[in-house]
Amino acid sequence: MELYNVEQKIQEFVAKIEAKNPNEPEFLQAVKEVAITVIPFIATRKEYTGMKLLERMAEPERTIIFRVPWVDDKGEIQVNRGFRIQMNSAIGPYKGGIRFHPTVNLSVLKFLAFEQTFKNSLTTLPMGGGKGGSDFDPQGKSDMEIMRFCQAFMTEMCKHIGPETDVPAGDIGVGAREIGYLFGQYKKIRNEFTGVLTGKGLAYGGSLIRPEATGYGVVYFAEQMLKTIGQDFRDKVICVSGFGNVAWGVVKKATELGGKVVTISGPDGYIYDKEGISGDKIDFLLEMRASGNNRAEDYLKKFRSAEFHAGKHPWEVKCDVAIPAATQNELTLDDAKLLVNNGVICVTEAANMPSTLDAINHFLNNKVLFSPGKASNAGGVATSGLEMTQNSIRLNWSSEEVDARLKEIMIGIHKLCRDYGKEADGYVNYVKGANIAGFVKVAEAMLAQGVV
Ligand code: GLU
Repeated sequence: MELYNVEQKIQEFVAKIEAKNPNEPEFLQAVKEVAITVIPFIATRKEYTGMKLLERMAEPERTIIFRVPWVDDKGEIQVNRGFRIQMNSAIGPYKGGIRFHPTVNLSVLKFLAFEQTFKNSLTTLPMGGGKGGSDFDPQGKSDMEIMRFCQAFMTEMCKHIGPETDVPAGDIGVGAREIGYLFGQYKKIRNEFTGVLTGKGLAYGGSLIRPEATGYGVVYFAEQMLKTIGQDFRDKVICVSGFGNVAWGVVKKATELGGKVVTISGPDGYIYDKEGISGDKIDFLLEMRASGNNRAEDYLKKFRSAEFHAGKHPWEVKCDVAIPAATQNELTLDDAKLLVNNGVICVTEAANMPSTLDAINHFLNNKVLFSPGKASNAGGVATSGLEMTQNSIRLNWSSEEVDARLKEIMIGIHKLCRDYGKEADGYVNYVKGANIAGFVKVAEAMLAQGVV
């Protein structure tokens, strides 16, 4: 009877969110994943019941949608749409990246902002959840076009952010160059030199290790997962997807720890390099990214012994560890079946929500070590939090200091997931662990602050 009630509660909750947010499949997917694990937990806590905590968390505190007009190199006027979702500020100023990609829409940014709230909570640092972006496509744009777009975007966004209010950072399509242009425009309009953005260049308030942080954090987290079964990265065959900033950090650290990364991928297909992507091949990922071509096939121009598989996902390659580091819903149930059949032991998400819900269930049902991005990729935003601290105290920490703090935070997140996600048979359900642990801190703050 009790179980039936909880199941019914989940269904009613999801139906309500669906009715309120039609045509937002990604947002609904993210909320559903959380609801399935958090609603049964809420049912066991008297102080949480009836407080509509999850319902409040699924409603952004504020959604800002704005016009971004700019002039391209041909003198033609272009019009894009800009967004900033200020999801939850219960535990700190809104914090989360900005994504420039043609697939950006309200649903995508709301799912990212919702996940960000839980992720930021897991870091234990005082950061609320937010996300922003635009449907602007940086591919094929000149440097000056990128600059003009960033300036136009910030001209509006600067009215809504600030170091104590909302601190954006990078995400897909937004790296150090874009952060620089965005920061310059904020400073010009507001006449303030503050830590309003993270991921800044070292010359103007950035933190060492921030570029590597997301990927390194993922590998530190995976290291902890492997440790639970008495294993480590040495001699593990690893499949990675994507070739952007996050994938780069993953390949670098996993290789350093003795693993062999054999794949990377792009929207065009995947590269299989049986020798392992190590040494100068890792640096070449940065060149591929900087070229703005967005083509994994370019790897062959330099490393001819590798193979390129057009239009395919890397998950068909036999591996011990899989690290999806590209984008949402890139790993489907079919991919999950291939990985499980090929004996994968650990799947650590590096992108945000790269696995579909049925793929996640397949991993969990097969007792594969599986960690959701909101836990394992939290090292990026955690290091952004460390950048905010350094900006506040007006000091820069060394690489060793930042890296040590990052590692400590990832070990802490892993422990939280274990504490809340351990099942009767000893298997750790990291999805459940991350959702509940992330929820608890935000929920406590919301309860304390009243209905606001
Ligand atoms: N975009 C990154 C994320 O998904 C980093 C956000 C940040 O540093 O604020 O967590």
